[in-house]
Amino acid sequence: MKYIGAHVSAQGGLENAAINAHAIGARAFALFTKNQRQWQAPALTAKSIEAFKAACAQYGYTPNHILPHDSYLINLGHPEADGLEKSRQSFIHEMQRCEALGLTMLNFHPGSHLRAIDLDTCLTRIADSINMALEQTNGVTAVIENTAGQGSNVGFDFAHLAAIIDRVEDKSRVGVCIDTCHAYAAGYDLATDEGFAKTWQEFDNIVGFNYLRGMHLNDAKKGLGSRVDRHDSLGKGILGTRCFELLMQDPRFDNIPLILETPDETLWAQEIEWLYSLA
Ligand SMILES: [Zn+2]
Ligand SMILES: [Zn+2]
Repeated sequence: MKYIGAHVSAQGGLENAAINAHAIGARAFALFTKNQRQWQAPALTAKSIEAFKAACAQYGYTPNHILPHDSYLINLGHPEADGLEKSRQSFIHEMQRCEALGLTMLNFHPGSHLRAIDLDTCLTRIADSINMALEQTNGVTAVIENTAGQGSNVGFDFAHLAAIIDRVEDKSRVGVCIDTCHAYAAGYDLATDEGFAKTWQEFDNIVGFNYLRGMHLNDAKKGLGSRVDRHDSLGKGILGTRCFELLMQDPRFDNIPLILETPDETLWAQEIEWLYSLA
């Protein structure tokens, strides 16, 4: 079975994420558990944790279909000691929030070398950051997202994801989330039948489907291999509709959260309905 949803707003209380997801016909959702543009957040109260859990129970959302996303400020591969330390503390804090909410995953962009350290050093730093966070939390899996490779972001090549996983000690609590727009921008041709088959074969060989914990379903505004991260609504970009038909008919994408991050949220209910009609 497919579990489709969107990255919904949690404004006014985390429980609103579940309510907003239900309103658009979603069986899964993503959310920020704190303001994604700030380092600090007030601690979660017992009351807000209870309200979140109650709303999830009411609308039938279980932790394996909820994919929280961390702050955009965090860079777990930061080249400088200060920036790295700040990022690690913030990431641990976000993992602890997930744990407190009874959630089992935290999705994040791996990081950037900022052209100050080499790729391999950056990948090792990211893995070390994950190891530290896993040591200080229980039951939450660190879910690395592939990137478009914009600027100095690492993680656009499946080999980067595999190298990070390889250096993580507890393999049972590390996974990946593949974003269709990012993959396409990074040069993986998901738009054609042949490209789709080849990309996922390569993914399985290099990373392994056993690590796939979620997907971000986005069309792409920029071309194959453009390395530019610009999402589009499904069917309105260059990726087109075929990729999503193939995904919906493929059992390798069953039972994981499939999350829309498309730019026009007024279309989410329609996009979700369309995707379910293809499944
Ligand atoms: Zn994404
Ligand atoms: Zn993106």
